[in-house]
Amino acid sequence: MSRIPVSLDPFLPRALERRWEGEYSGDELPRLRAASPEGAGIAVRVGFTLVRGPLGEIRWQAEIDGETDQVCQRCLQPMRWHFQLRPDVALIRPGDRPSALGEDAERLELGADGLLWPAGAVEDEILLALPLAPRHEQCGAGAHREFEPGEGDREADNPFAVLGQLRGKS
Ligand SMILES: [Zn+2]
Repeated sequence: MSRIPVSLDPFLPRALERRWEGEYSGDELPRLRAASPEGAGIAVRVGFTLVRGPLGEIRWQAEIDGETDQVCQRCLQPMRWHFQLRPDVALIRPGDRPSALGEDAERLELGADGLLWPAGAVEDEILLALPLAPRHEQCGAGAHREFEPGEGDREADNPFAVLGQLRGKS
């Protein structure tokens, strides 16, 4: 096990088959902090491995577990949002379009420097998974109403809905 570095070259042979682990707080995840209420307690544990996939591609296989605060969209009170994400994506250099990978293959385009910046990649995954309309599992307000007319309208306001669409096209 190695500590997660700030950045690393995922195409170096010595980077493969190693286990990297670390923890992040809101200081290292400024975009997640911006997407959370003021003073949110952000705690994220990360482990990942770089492996060679069946098509020769380098894959980032990560476990991202953590929690942050969100605002329940039903009662507008704070709530803890827990997440367990398991991204398994092909890493590609900027501008690369490896034809062996299908159009639909999940991929993560590296920065212009060709390096993997783990905190940013972790943050992207969390932002993509942010619930559009977070709610308490057992919310005190309107707990007996399964359906609220007009609920879907709120999703249009969420900036991360746009992020999700962008990713779908890449
Ligand atoms: Zn609630």
